Amino acid sequence: MRYIYIFLFLFSSLGAFNVEIPKETVSNGRTGILMFNKEKGVQYQKIVVGKQSYKIFKHPTDAHKLYVLLPESYYKKPSKQKVQIIYTKNAKKKSKILYFNVVDGKYEKETIHVQKSKVNPTDKKVKARTAKEYAQAMKIYNTITPKNYVRSPYIVPLDSKITSAFGIARVYNDTLKGYHSGTDFRAKIGTPIIASNDGKVVLAQNRFYSGNSIIIDHGEGIYTCYYHMSQFKVKKGAMVKKGEVIGLSGDTGRITGPHLHFSARVGGLQVDPLQLVKLLNKNLYGDI
Ligand SMILES: [Zn+2]
Repeated sequence: MRYIYIFLFLFSSLGAFNVEIPKETVSNGRTGILMFNKEKGVQYQKIVVGKQSYKIFKHPTDAHKLYVLLPESYYKKPSKQKVQIIYTKNAKKKSKILYFNVVDGKYEKETIHVQKSKVNPTDKKVKARTAKEYAQAMKIYNTITPKNYVRSPYIVPLDSKITSAFGIARVYNDTLKGYHSGTDFRAKIGTPIIASNDGKVVLAQNRFYSGNSIIIDHGEGIYTCYYHMSQFKVKKGAMVKKGEVIGLSGDTGRITGPHLHFSARVGGLQVDPLQLVKLLNKNLYGDI
């Protein structure tokens, strides 16, 4: 994995402003973090990056701090990004600007051959189904649960070889169809899959592309997803604990062989799940 630092340039006027920017690996498709030290009279509201705004949350393990995640779209070109921090000081509304650079994640390319009917579904019923499933998923991902269910470091859902990394540009039957949206783990059918952390099961159903799928809401806009399972061990609405078996791996959905596809969303954006786990564990849960 390539490690690229996020470079943040603070305006000198931020001198009086207590913001901490841990140097983290970030590029398109990955996540950065800002941390604020609590100050008397200062109330941080949100940050705005482009047209997107992100809520600032309490640090889960340090009462003196607040944090905000900066997820970057996979399709974001290398560029200088402007971050506006909105806050009030002694009841007066204020804002500060800082900048950071998005750099190229240098993802690889992969060619995959699958059944034509599954690449460009022409069947009206299939099209209607995938459109419905997409809308349903986006509604979930764009919901920011104000509570954080998590209190300890995240874990990976399976101790197994990674067979396909996040972010690989995907070419299906010679057509570029996007990128690999998660990390694939080798798993023969029936391998127990565990929850990466505490949370609420917000989806447990069969979908056209991802097969038997589970989405866990960890709170504060963070979701982890587990695809292609053969069996569910939890139902929608269930509260799960880290390490709890949520299902068995399988080969359902649009894939060529059994495996677990693990993915994550932050603030509605799809991000590198393993980099996210590392970032959260290091900065929020004291696991270095
Ligand atoms: Zn996958």
